[in-house]
Amino acid sequence: MTIHSLSPDILSAFEGAVGRSGLTTDAAGMAKYLGDWAGDYRGGALAVLRPGSAAEVQALMRLCSELGLGVIPQGGNTGLVSGAIDTNCAGLVVVSLERLNAIRRIDPDNFTLQADAGCVLQTMKDASEAEDCLFPLALGAQGSCQIGGNAATNAGGVNVLRYGMARDLILGLEVVLADGELWNGFSGLRKNNSGYDLKQLFIGSEGTLGIITGVEVKLFPKPAQVETAYLGLSSFEAAMTLFNRARRACSDLISAFEIIGAECVELARLIEPGMTAPVTAPAQALIELSSGPTIDLNGILAGFLADAMEEGLVTNAVLATSGAQAKSFWAIREKLVEGQAKRGYHVRTDLSVRISDIPALIERARRFVAIEHPGWIALAYGHAGDGNIHFNVLPPLSLGATEARARGIAVTAGLYDIAVDLGGSISAEHGIGRSRRREFWDALSPTHRRMVTALKTALDPKGLVNPGCLLPSTETFS
Ligand SMILES: Cc1cc2nc3c(=O)[nH]c(=O)nc-3n(C[C@H](O)[C@H](O)[C@H](O)COP(=O)(O)OP(=O)(O)OC[C@H]3O[C@@H](n4cnc5c(N)ncnc54)[C@H](O)[C@@H]3O)c2cc1C
Repeated sequence: MTIHSLSPDILSAFEGAVGRSGLTTDAAGMAKYLGDWAGDYRGGALAVLRPGSAAEVQALMRLCSELGLGVIPQGGNTGLVSGAIDTNCAGLVVVSLERLNAIRRIDPDNFTLQADAGCVLQTMKDASEAEDCLFPLALGAQGSCQIGGNAATNAGGVNVLRYGMARDLILGLEVVLADGELWNGFSGLRKNNSGYDLKQLFIGSEGTLGIITGVEVKLFPKPAQVETAYLGLSSFEAAMTLFNRARRACSDLISAFEIIGAECVELARLIEPGMTAPVTAPAQALIELSSGPTIDLNGILAGFLADAMEEGLVTNAVLATSGAQAKSFWAIREKLVEGQAKRGYHVRTDLSVRISDIPALIERARRFVAIEHPGWIALAYGHAGDGNIHFNVLPPLSLGATEARARGIAVTAGLYDIAVDLGGSISAEHGIGRSRRREFWDALSPTHRRMVTALKTALDPKGLVNPGCLLPSTETFS
């Protein structure tokens, strides 16, 4: 049953659960929770609830369960697949974790940090650094996204190559289930083979199995040295050959390897007009090595690059001589993403293939766009070291927004077909949300669907937690 409005009695019950300041129902107050970062999605909600403690989350979930009212958990709202926004405006409430934002405990001897789910990722990184530790999850949205959102989406980012995705970094979770019960899954242990590893069910579940209220993560020693170089190459094939060599020559010292097509730099300039890439080349790459104090990291990277240049694999390279210069290299990678949002609607993908298939993916995707959608501009960049490419396509500026969006559906479908044909995934790290749900669900085998449905039904039998995200609504499970 869809609930279309909240009666005064229900509103006062919510107020009792989260306090007066934790309840917003006016359109102006709710606006920032109902639109996404890129301006792609707008949704609706009957109310926005902002609990200040796990106990308040429990109280409101009990209420929602009694009422049969759907709930959308929301973190920093930086997700790119409409997971935290109900685009169908189906009469749900948004539960924002933003007030649940404390660092609970740092244990530098155990190399662990425990925080509320609404703690902003950058705050966790800063707190770790103050203890001479590193929390290595790193992404462009780290100043806004929350650790609960990172857990719910199994976030990736630029350091996956060395440290893994959120799934590899999380030691424990605290979760409020659909019926309001609290599960405390903290142990602080790195090894714990006691039955099912339940936290892994919630990591990457995109808020469909419960509301994460606390997260415990692994920390690492803060690297004493970081070396960064910006490279020019003749092709992405050369870039991936270089990466392969670097893995062997520099071993596990590599902490990031990103590729950037030359055409992307123009987008970064939309945000910082004076910005120039340190090299001119059709394919560009950022490589970062990091380590403790006892090895000659600069010598290792400089020596490796000298050999690669002598061989003609790299056409030019700039090794950063200061932290500020390294930061300016990374700014190109970050601003090109912002530049796309500033330019307006564009097709955004998050494809992954086997690392060795990256050149084929880019080559086939570029050919597809040039032949099937002339005038559209193809951009290729991403976490190539993990086999993850954001192959995005900009519509011609002459095309109206409505027509561009309509034609974008065919562009997206063509790119997904290429990735799937190569044995890849249509969602490397951003998730499924509402925008990729159909493609995700259609591609599952009956056995896979049965297991997913069984999990959802066991933990959320009334289908109240983030309905419409990831899975079809309960009535249409099949
Ligand atoms: C500029 C930019 C760069 C980005 N770069 C990367 C990148 O490199 N790698 C990457 O993986 N992603 C990237 N993203 C996507 C996004 O930042 C991540 O998906 C991030 O983990 C989302 O966190 P959030 O707190 O903003 O979650 P939201 O956007 O608020 O929510 C995302 C999903 O998680 C659920 N959710 C949120 N909080 C909770 C909770 N406490 N309990 C249960 N469910 C919850 C929501 O219901 C929704 O389904 C980028 C986004 C931007 C805007």
